[in-house]
Amino acid sequence: MSDDVILSVRGLRKSYASGTEALKPIDLDIKRGEIFALLGPNGAGKTTLISIICGIVTPSGGEVLVDGQDWRTHFRHARREIGLVPQELTMDVFEPLLNTVSFSRELFGYPADPKRIEEILRSLSLWDKRKAILKELSGGMKRRVMIAKALAHEPKILFLDEPTAGVDVELRRDMWNLVRKLRDQGTTIILTTHYIEEAEEMADRVGVINKGELILVENKDELMKKLGRKVLHLQLV
Ligand code: ATP
Repeated sequence: MSDDVILSVRGLRKSYASGTEALKPIDLDIKRGEIFALLGPNGAGKTTLISIICGIVTPSGGEVLVDGQDWRTHFRHARREIGLVPQELTMDVFEPLLNTVSFSRELFGYPADPKRIEEILRSLSLWDKRKAILKELSGGMKRRVMIAKALAHEPKILFLDEPTAGVDVELRRDMWNLVRKLRDQGTTIILTTHYIEEAEEMADRVGVINKGELILVENKDELMKKLGRKVLHLQLV
């Protein structure tokens, strides 16, 4: 595995007991410092793929290498390198924002580091809301808090599962700017999306997944040239 590759997936597959083949064997390399968009329609297998990589779902076969090391044998290392922002907002709690984010860091075995947590909250424009109760925040703020929680242990790779699903145009733009800022600070980003314009706007490379199969991986510009908006849209719908 070259030094440029931070994450590598080999022959990764998943079949559920129901008989659904959610992932056909998938091979994929993610380059250090890139934004990689995984584009596909409902049920394509996007969440399954990132849930396996993040250690939440057990694969039926294949391997995941983080920094060249197998997830299974280097569990602690892999877990620390990865941060996940899940699709659903799970914030129905009466807990101040600052405590929640600090606790997320400690969960990974790192000592509390108020300065670092302050930096993270400031970079996400959340510092002024640090005493706010999570349950009472707006949807957009909750999404930012989810990102802060995922970044609290300073992972090198950040997964965002449909970060802009169901959000308005303004918040979508804010999210895009935020993700670019994180990438510029050195974080490798993998996001899933239904929206071709999101992949076009954000990604350095795009993987197209459909019915559990990774059918294409391309540099964003190449992909747009090759397929064009309309054709890709028709293939995915
Ligand atoms: P969406 O964009 O709607 O979130 P997705 O691309 O993330 O979709 P997945 O959630 O990964 O797709 O689902 C892939 C396939 O696996 C679907 O057919 C789904 O019904 C099936 N699936 C997912 N989780 C389970 C489960 N726990 N048990 C059985 N089948 C499942």
